[in-house]
Amino acid sequence: MYYFDPHIHMVSRTTDDYETLAKMGCIGVSEPAFWAGYDRGSVDGFRDYFHQLTDFEPKRASWYGIAHYTWLCINAKEAENVELSREVIAMIPEFLDRPGVLGIGEIGLNKNTKNEATVFLEHLDLAARTGEQILIHTPHLEDKYQGTRMIIDMICDDSRLDRQRVCVDHIEEHTAKAVLEEGFWAGMTLYPVSKCTPERAVDIVEKFGPERLLVNSAGDWGPSKPTAVPDFILEMRLRGHSESLIRRVVYDNPIKFFSQSRNFHFDPPQIDEPRADEPVGV
Ligand SMILES: [Zn+2]
Repeated sequence: MYYFDPHIHMVSRTTDDYETLAKMGCIGVSEPAFWAGYDRGSVDGFRDYFHQLTDFEPKRASWYGIAHYTWLCINAKEAENVELSREVIAMIPEFLDRPGVLGIGEIGLNKNTKNEATVFLEHLDLAARTGEQILIHTPHLEDKYQGTRMIIDMICDDSRLDRQRVCVDHIEEHTAKAVLEEGFWAGMTLYPVSKCTPERAVDIVEKFGPERLLVNSAGDWGPSKPTAVPDFILEMRLRGHSESLIRRVVYDNPIKFFSQSRNFHFDPPQIDEPRADEPVGV
């Protein structure tokens, strides 16, 4: 089955990973800006990174027929340096008209600090002023519920922002309801050691339905599995879900969400609908 991975950090992956993704049916990825493994010392460090995200990664992906899109920001881990954050936010517009740039992200909170909230609000203001879509990182583990609540409240306080153009990522069972009820898109991140497993993600689809739900692998510096979305597809099939429901979550939904961005241009491959009498599954 063709699918999109809407949140994967390919700068931390090898070219072999692109090849494996393509062989497993991945035809598009979206890569949010994130932490480099070290704190960058200057705005030029971010400018170089944004060149990598908008020049080289799309090229590397294209070698395997994968469309590459990206989101730009300074991440929450580095937001404690408010002065540098402001320089980066002022520089981001240099890149917003580049092909494949879908919006501002992944912004959000990490430890729910005052400086993180300040920088988050200034990113929201940038997105509102420039009409960009937003991709949100929510904190992990014990900080997740409170951080997600703070993020939702800050977005809802800004009447300029259209919630249907915002995806709140790394949701879990205890945050899915609030995110979906407020009208946001919600991303489930599949991880081998923390966050959501494929089984839990399928539970969430069964509980809340496929509307505005996305599933991704994160594929970052830590232990993570870039092919986690196919694991989700397999789990959906093993539980007897239809091909059309699976495709809605892993293919139709990301395209629908991304299509709200002016820089999303995608030529879909011809997809054959399975016939009613055709066996599907594994
Ligand atoms: Zn991420």
